[in-house]
Amino acid sequence: IAALALTACGRTDGGAGGGSTAGGEAFPKDSLIGVALPQKTSENWVLAEKLFNDGLKGAGFKADVQFANGGVSEQQNQIAAMVTKGAKVVIVGAIDGAQLGTQLKQAKDAGATIIAYDRLLLNTENVDYYVAYDNFKVGELQGQALLDGLKAKKATGPYNIELFAGSPDDANAKVFFDGAMKVLQPKIDDGTLKVLSGQKSFEQAVTQGWKAENAQKRADTLLTGSYGTAPLDGVLSPNDTLARAVLTSVKAAGKPLPVVTGQDSEVESVKSILAGEQYSTINKDTRKLVEHAILMAKELQAGKKLEINDADSYKNGVKTVPAYLLPPVIVTKENVKAAYVDDPVLGPLTK
Ligand code: BGC
Repeated sequence: IAALALTACGRTDGGAGGGSTAGGEAFPKDSLIGVALPQKTSENWVLAEKLFNDGLKGAGFKADVQFANGGVSEQQNQIAAMVTKGAKVVIVGAIDGAQLGTQLKQAKDAGATIIAYDRLLLNTENVDYYVAYDNFKVGELQGQALLDGLKAKKATGPYNIELFAGSPDDANAKVFFDGAMKVLQPKIDDGTLKVLSGQKSFEQAVTQGWKAENAQKRADTLLTGSYGTAPLDGVLSPNDTLARAVLTSVKAAGKPLPVVTGQDSEVESVKSILAGEQYSTINKDTRKLVEHAILMAKELQAGKKLEINDADSYKNGVKTVPAYLLPPVIVTKENVKAAYVDDPVLGPLTK
């Protein structure tokens, strides 16, 4: 009887997790799903933690959701630990998408499926899927918003602008910048936009660690160095945290506020938009992104084929990662009410 029980157990138990798999299922329904989040550099990540915990448990999985506030080596250790604990799917929002190769290989060798979440994983074949808002589109929307905002203030240029980018270790930062420059570069070339500091490259525009203090310091330096008497009309900011840092710097310099873009629909920035200070943000509803990542885990569990809507954009240096992209939405004072009508936190703010 013991031998029979063992055999039965061996046949039905898909391995770690202790549950059982039915026909077609790839692993048991109560398996562990690991979620490795980066640092708390913006509100979307903080929100994702709770949504993953609640959503994965609600779907019947066990969840191991970790932040790596200590940096890259902490994230490496967390992913390695998820593999040891038998995670069947590892969802990764990387601090530095190029530094996880060893741990992703461990995960793959152990039979896990790897999903890059929000940020692409680079220079590895051990990433199966990518789920994110369309990052290039985010950049394009930011570039267009900057132009629209400038024109709304003053019908014709030239306009003086400065460019800010995100953290260079985050694969998204360059994509956001490239998307924005697709719109802005022709206007720089034809003289409509002038970057008085001359700092027009991604490398010159980056903000290490997506840190507000770094953006604020650079804005201080730019204002003192290039805007003694000249007005600063606009600033391309890749997200809300950095947008508010730029606005703080301009206020401290006693200058009129420029048109400043953003991203993430952070509470303080939505308030700033309503108050007529920050010009725009991007709505990338974290609930929808997490929901889709969890749907992917469910489909993997059920042994189903995953839906992909972009098979050729996201090249990671080794492979093209099949992606499911969600559409980002630009938000200005004009559409702020409509944009957050369903949002439990932002909705009431715009009433
Ligand atoms: C996300 C942005 C966020 C930034 C800083 C990026 O990878 O896509 O939404 O603003 O990280 O946290």
